[in-house]
Amino acid sequence: MDFTRKDTKKLWLNDVAIGGNAPIVVQSMNNTDTRDVEATLTQIENLAAAGCEVTRVAVPDSIAANALRDIVERSPIPVIADIHFQATLALQALENGVAGLRINPGNIGSEQGVKEIAIKALEKRIPIRVGVNSGSLDSEIRDKMGGVNPDSMVASVLKSCKMLEQYDFHDICISIKASDPKLTIDSYRKLAQEVDYPLHLGVTEAGTPKDGIVRSAVGIGTLLAEGIGDTIRVSLTADPILEVETAYSILKSLGLRSKGALLISCPTCGRTEVDLQILAEQVEPLLTKIEEPIKVAVMGCPVNGPGEAREADCGIAGGRNIYLIFRNGEVVEKVNQENALSALKREIEIARKKYLHEQQN
Ligand code: SF4
Repeated sequence: MDFTRKDTKKLWLNDVAIGGNAPIVVQSMNNTDTRDVEATLTQIENLAAAGCEVTRVAVPDSIAANALRDIVERSPIPVIADIHFQATLALQALENGVAGLRINPGNIGSEQGVKEIAIKALEKRIPIRVGVNSGSLDSEIRDKMGGVNPDSMVASVLKSCKMLEQYDFHDICISIKASDPKLTIDSYRKLAQEVDYPLHLGVTEAGTPKDGIVRSAVGIGTLLAEGIGDTIRVSLTADPILEVETAYSILKSLGLRSKGALLISCPTCGRTEVDLQILAEQVEPLLTKIEEPIKVAVMGCPVNGPGEAREADCGIAGGRNIYLIFRNGEVVEKVNQENALSALKREIEIARKKYLHEQQN
């Protein structure tokens, strides 16, 4: 799939670029108590190992703001401080070396506070994400513009941006999330026409994994397919590692990032004559450990199966109590159910090594 991405300003969170046609960055947010430095760092390390490129931590008080110094120093990925209501916490976070801030200038408490944050962030060249959610709209705008809708969402976030722009601060990334994917999509579409700041996409409070993954895929995926969005965060009521895995699944589905293997497996139907579900369930966990962007097909029958399997780096397609093993579009072996998994494992390893070899040459 080819997308023309909307051209946006490039910002840097330490050495991670956001916008300006940089690869779409995968973010998550810690759910540890930021005051607990060790627990927070352990989770950051796990998130980074899963592919998270930027994380955000909540900073509810000055103990958490102080803890940032150690966290930032030892974190393998850029850390963004998420701050509401108190400008002093944002100033403390900036002093303690965070890579970015996430604030809603409308709720930071005072005009003077916003000014001080803008001046210090400008001096330290630290970007700020201006985040407005459907639940935290400017009440005056909401009342004047007929409630929560794309117009009031965009007007509200632009008003917040102006609060920083008036101090010549323009290293801004914007988010404008709602829990309703349609409102999220319409709001970002409108926003993308108004600004060239990089956009952070997400469907907020998307829910538990069962529905939350689908809602996030619909909301984030639709926008990305239209070329909108520079960084994404999937919000789930679950371990944040799952947010990162889901983010990569969305990006891989659209061909926008290639981290890790992609499994293509058919849903099975009345033509399936092998136990494909068991095989697919055994293959999936094997692929989560693979970093290389290889495509593995697990298909049930000779109708669509061989065709899909041929397009993958390796694959397997069921027949009558046998499986055909494919490598780069060619059948290399026929095996029975008992040997199917080991034969496919071998092909996955061959595909992985081939990819690494091609990268080195
Ligand atoms: S690939 Fe074959 S078995 Fe799988 S769903 Fe399609 S027709 Fe059915």
